[in-house]
Amino acid sequence: MKFKPEEYRIKDEPMKPFIDPEEIWEYLNQAPATAEQIKAIIQKSLDKNRLNLQEVSALVNTTDPALVAEILEGARELKKRVYGNRIVLFAPLYIGNKCTNNCRYCGFRTSNKEAERVTLNDAEIVAAVEALEETGQKRLILVYGEHPLYSPEYIANNVKLVYGVKKDNGEIRRVNINAAPMEIEGFRIVKEAGIGTYQVFQETYNQDAYAAYHLGGKKRDFDYRLTSLDRAQEAGLDDVGIGALFGLYDWRYEVLGLVRHTNHLEACYNVGPHTISFPRIQAASELDVDPKYLVSDADFVKLVAILRLAVPYTGMILTARESQQIRRDVMQFGVSQIDGGTKLELGAYADKEVPDDNQDLKKEQFKINDNRSLAEIIEELVENEYIPSFCTACYRLGRTGEHFMEFSVPGFIKRYCTPNALLTLAEYLVDYAKPEVAKKGWALIERELLLLDGHQDVEEVRRRIEKIKAGTRDLYF
Ligand code: SAM
Ligand code: SF4
Repeated sequence: MKFKPEEYRIKDEPMKPFIDPEEIWEYLNQAPATAEQIKAIIQKSLDKNRLNLQEVSALVNTTDPALVAEILEGARELKKRVYGNRIVLFAPLYIGNKCTNNCRYCGFRTSNKEAERVTLNDAEIVAAVEALEETGQKRLILVYGEHPLYSPEYIANNVKLVYGVKKDNGEIRRVNINAAPMEIEGFRIVKEAGIGTYQVFQETYNQDAYAAYHLGGKKRDFDYRLTSLDRAQEAGLDDVGIGALFGLYDWRYEVLGLVRHTNHLEACYNVGPHTISFPRIQAASELDVDPKYLVSDADFVKLVAILRLAVPYTGMILTARESQQIRRDVMQFGVSQIDGGTKLELGAYADKEVPDDNQDLKKEQFKINDNRSLAEIIEELVENEYIPSFCTACYRLGRTGEHFMEFSVPGFIKRYCTPNALLTLAEYLVDYAKPEVAKKGWALIERELLLLDGHQDVEEVRRRIEKIKAGTRDLYF
């Protein structure tokens, strides 16, 4: 099967699946590329062109250490050119873990009778959001199991509730969702509630592996899940996130699946996914996964770099599933968003009794390996010359979906993204940072302002920073 976008979007007809394992394997089984070809592919990406499946498969099949090092270096350079040194921060907020599916990797699976099932009520949601705001969070992703209770209307109500919670100077300015696939009408309902990104991870793009890992419930239907973000697009929800759960099947195949999915959305809707996630399987209660496909740290770094090169314009999310060390290593190769101060146990953000460093897997979806507070994460970012950003400007100004704008308008990043990142960092430093972190943060802001000269009216950015110091909030370009 060769990709023909026009065949996938026939008005008033259901979406067709667009992943063909034979095709993907055909690419993966090609003769290895030469060193010259690999260098040319890296250069194509550095020129900010998206790579095709053949080129991506050439990269994933590269094993020569010298060439792998070039792939990593290419990704590092591309990230610098495309995103600069901003890292956007967010936190997950688990709302409910009731689930009717039986996914073999997940602590919430229906067969797990030990799991404590909790759904936060409105008061508990407000308490959690207040606790998150008290640490400086501005962007959340609400996470749900798949259950009839968590209907589109239910999720929409949660979203509106979260936006309404204001604690001191705190507020949540962007609410993303990770929940089960919906019908077109459902996506319309959650869009109207003002959500940011809607994430659905395909878990594995291989139909046979998918069948083996999804033993019961609606999630068993591979095609329904695969076409879910097409339905979101049909509903006008053009800000979507894709992902694969690495460890279920051959990682090289999954990388090609993610790229195929991206190509499909771009070809059919003129807008690719806003973000790609690449979680690796972690320990979970009742975990039942064949270790055969677990991804080593070396392969993980490589696959993140290859994804960066493959889709230069897509945001990439790295979560607290990974350790501090891996996060530090991988971040440089193309990550644009990370979570901080993450707690998975339902209700834990507001409950001071829940320990930060001792998870109870009966109450949580999986084990995380980076349980540092948001403050600690921000301190490390600042020390490593990253700009922690809570920016939500594009979404608030209706620049959604067309996130390509940030790349297609020359100088957009220096004119908007970096100044906005600095303004949100300034807010954080004034409202939440300890004095020693604030000192390092202001020094970083000064260094970054110098680099903005000629791209944005630096005096105007300084004026806005002074306004923030004087108490004004939520300033952006
Ligand atoms: N219930 C919704 C669904 O299945 O689409 C929401 C997904 S779940 C709450 C969020 C994601 O966590 C899943 O899509 C899966 O990729 C990931 N996940 C599940 N179990 C995991 C594990 N043991 N380790 C790491 N990630 C896991
Ligand atoms: Fe992203 Fe828009 Fe903020 Fe730039 S200004 S970082 S594109 S949200």
